[in-house]
Amino acid sequence: MSIRQNIENLKNELPETVKLVAVSKTKSVEEILEAYETGHRIFGENKAQELISKQPELPQDIQWHFIGHMQTNKVKYIAPFVSLIESVDSLKLLNEINKQANNIGRVIDCLLQFHIAEEETKFGLDFNEATGLLNSEEFQAMKNVRICGVMGMATFTEDTGQVRKEFYLLKEIFNRLKNKYFIEQESFKEISMGMSGDYKIAVEVGSTIVRIGSLIFGER
Ligand SMILES: *Cc1c(COP(=O)(O)O)cnc(C)c1O
Repeated sequence: MSIRQNIENLKNELPETVKLVAVSKTKSVEEILEAYETGHRIFGENKAQELISKQPELPQDIQWHFIGHMQTNKVKYIAPFVSLIESVDSLKLLNEINKQANNIGRVIDCLLQFHIAEEETKFGLDFNEATGLLNSEEFQAMKNVRICGVMGMATFTEDTGQVRKEFYLLKEIFNRLKNKYFIEQESFKEISMGMSGDYKIAVEVGSTIVRIGSLIFGER
C-alpha cells in the first residue's frame, strides 16, 4: 500500500484526540514529501544529525518531534525549529535545552521519557529520577522549557499483557506527576506511547500521541 493510503487508514482509525507522529527516520526527503502531501504535518526523527540535514530540505511548516536519545552538544542545532522534544531523560539535557532556547528567545515544549520496558537498552527516567529533576532548584528556575507530559516505549514482545501493563505504568506515572506538579498547567496533557506494533493497545490505555514509522513508510 502507498504512503498516502497508510496515513489515511491510520487517521481514519485513530480517535480524534490522538495525535499521529509519522516517524520518518532513515526515510528519504521524497518519501516524507509523499506523506506531507496528504496534509500530514507532524513528523518524528530519532537522530539529531539526520533531523538537522533533512529539515532545511523540507517544508517549513512541518512540526518536528525529536524522539531519540540526544547528546547535549546537538541541542543548539535543533532548538530553532523543533516542535516537541519527546525524549528528555536527564536534568543535564533539559538544562541545555533551556539554555539554547533562551539564547534564541523560545520556549521549547518537552516530554519526560520514562523507562517502562523490561529491556535494559531503552533510555529513560524512573519515577524517583523524575521527581528529583522536578524538585530541583535548577529545574524550577528554567524559563525556556515547558514540560507537556511523558513518553515511553514498551518492551518489544508478542506478550500483549506485558505491553499493556507497561503502558498502564506510564499512564500511572503521568497521573502522579500531573497531580503533584502540574495540576494547574493545562498544557501538561500528553502521554506519548504506541508504535507500529503496539499502538492499538496504547490507544486503549489512553495514549494521546502515537509514533508510527514502519506502518506508514514500510520496513526500515
Ligand atoms: C523508530 C521509533 C518509533 C517508530 O517505530 P515503528 O515500529 O517503525 O513504528 C517510535 N518511537 C521511537 C522512539 C522510535 O525510535
